[in-house]
Amino acid sequence: MGTIKLVTAVPGPRSTEIVERHKKVVSDAYDLNLPVVIAEGHGASFTDVDGNVFLDFATGVGPNLLGHSHPRVVEAVLDQARRFSHTDYAVVPYESFVELGERLVRMTGRTGDKVALFNSGAEAVENAVKLARAATGRTGIITFERAFHGRTLMALTLTSKQKPYKSGFGPFAPEVYRVPFPYPYRSEDPHRAGAEALAALESAFVTHVDPSQVAAVIVEPIQGEGGFVVPPRDFLPGLRSICERHGIVLIADEVQSGCGRTGRFLASEHFGVEADMVILAKALASGYPLSAVVARPELMDVGSGRIGGTYVGNPVACAAANAVLGVLEDEGLMERALEIEKRIGSAWEEAGGEVAEIGEVRGIGAMMAVEFVTDRESKTPNRELVRRILDEAGRRGLVALSAGIDGNVIRHLVPLIISDDDLDEGLDILTSAARSQR
Ligand code: PLP
Repeated sequence: MGTIKLVTAVPGPRSTEIVERHKKVVSDAYDLNLPVVIAEGHGASFTDVDGNVFLDFATGVGPNLLGHSHPRVVEAVLDQARRFSHTDYAVVPYESFVELGERLVRMTGRTGDKVALFNSGAEAVENAVKLARAATGRTGIITFERAFHGRTLMALTLTSKQKPYKSGFGPFAPEVYRVPFPYPYRSEDPHRAGAEALAALESAFVTHVDPSQVAAVIVEPIQGEGGFVVPPRDFLPGLRSICERHGIVLIADEVQSGCGRTGRFLASEHFGVEADMVILAKALASGYPLSAVVARPELMDVGSGRIGGTYVGNPVACAAANAVLGVLEDEGLMERALEIEKRIGSAWEEAGGEVAEIGEVRGIGAMMAVEFVTDRESKTPNRELVRRILDEAGRRGLVALSAGIDGNVIRHLVPLIISDDDLDEGLDILTSAARSQR
């Protein structure tokens, strides 16, 4: 007996009725991944308004790293909401904000650093750029091909996918320079992919921008929306030393890769690199809007009132985040990411024996993905197959997401609390859909 229980066709009648109402009043930009409306979620599954139970391999694009409605998070949120829900921290401060700062400094191993809190990943990116510019007195920002940093003006400028994110929304922010990010699977020589990307950055310092004018390089240690692309071992250390040489602030955008998803609190740790600034969001507060920038006081102390916002570090979100980090620390959950990596990896490696469209299985910890191609020689991205697999999975009660510039990657954003049985049930649906839909 598995967890998934379907009592109607997917979508059921009640979901269909609500989705029809959605179409009349909600912007069509909110294109639904699966037209199924949630009633409640617990752990790795949720029940829809028709009584169907689904397994959730999407976790709301990452935030539900502890699953839906983790008891410790729910308790912390209810307790906080009963006491007070808003003050504006700079008007009337509260201890949970300070406690969260202390936890973040401890869990990132960045003794002596300071923390600033915001509402979303994009907002933290905007502020990280402001802080880097203020500290260096420089304007240039380096970003990478296939990067995703959010949808506000600077974050969108830093983002690298035209459709649907950027096209028609310009003009974008000036002084942003884009360079290649290594993509071992698509490189002629995967072992040289890191060195080649570093050489391209050095060359951009000759052709595009003088390094003495560059305030920051912003990088996802493992690219998220770009397709869970893991750079070769030498890339991030190389980037670190180039930044040091030129006095450039290295910003690690760990919005998707951070908070324990990869088995370490920060994905950068796998590469032995400490960035000058770290950005966290998503899993930080289990879906309550909260993001953080962590950096040395020289970067963070910009003077009274210069960064902030009405809702930044909202007390309910801080309570949720303290509970999330408490669970990660007390329950040794990050180690679970490594077991998840093995299970996802071996399910897809086995499927790869039969499904020649599986190009690469990659990732670290619970940040695992499968790239689909039309054939392994041409490596032509196979977006259509990924769509068919995900649609079939949805009809069978599993919610999962694609990624990648070409939409030809299936990413697994499973919660760390998922049981082996639930993980196997979901993987069985995905791999059998891959076999049947090819
Ligand atoms: N940075 C990264 C690496 C992300 O993956 C995302 C969102 O997917 C963002 C920034 C933007 O975060 P938000 O959607 O909270 O603004």
